[in-house]
Amino acid sequence: MNILVSHCFLGEPCRYDGASRLDRQIIELHRAGHNLIPVCPELLGGLDIPRSPAEIQPDGRVLTQDGQDVTNAYRVGAERAAEIARENGCTVAVLKARSPSCGCREIYDGSFTHTLTSGWGVAARLLADMGLEVMDEEHLQTWLYL
Ligand code: SF4
Repeated sequence: MNILVSHCFLGEPCRYDGASRLDRQIIELHRAGHNLIPVCPELLGGLDIPRSPAEIQPDGRVLTQDGQDVTNAYRVGAERAAEIARENGCTVAVLKARSPSCGCREIYDGSFTHTLTSGWGVAARLLADMGLEVMDEEHLQTWLYL
């Protein structure tokens, strides 16, 4: 199966702070014979490394901690990730929890106070709306053993 994954899971240092989030569960998917299709929606949207952290606001805009409106970059990156999923026939995406691009069902609330709320990252929402099964790494084990 072709599985879309957040690129930072594979050790790519693409997070806002230049770090990665290498995840052995994702590597295991590859060992189990799945074909991993990495995307970083924020880089696909033209953002740089490092970049100011951003959160989705209650009105839907994406703002950086220093007040820059990066909504358009997040949308462009989400659309590009969706195109890559389509081109590769992906029906499943495993994305990084709580990211404003990749988070599934739970994200930070826009106040930059580490407060969580229900919601989706911009790319995760678009992929789910396209019909992909979208999950974060914290729910991958459940899916693997279904
Ligand atoms: Fe990782 Fe997604 Fe953030 Fe890129 S946008 S660094 S893939 S969580």
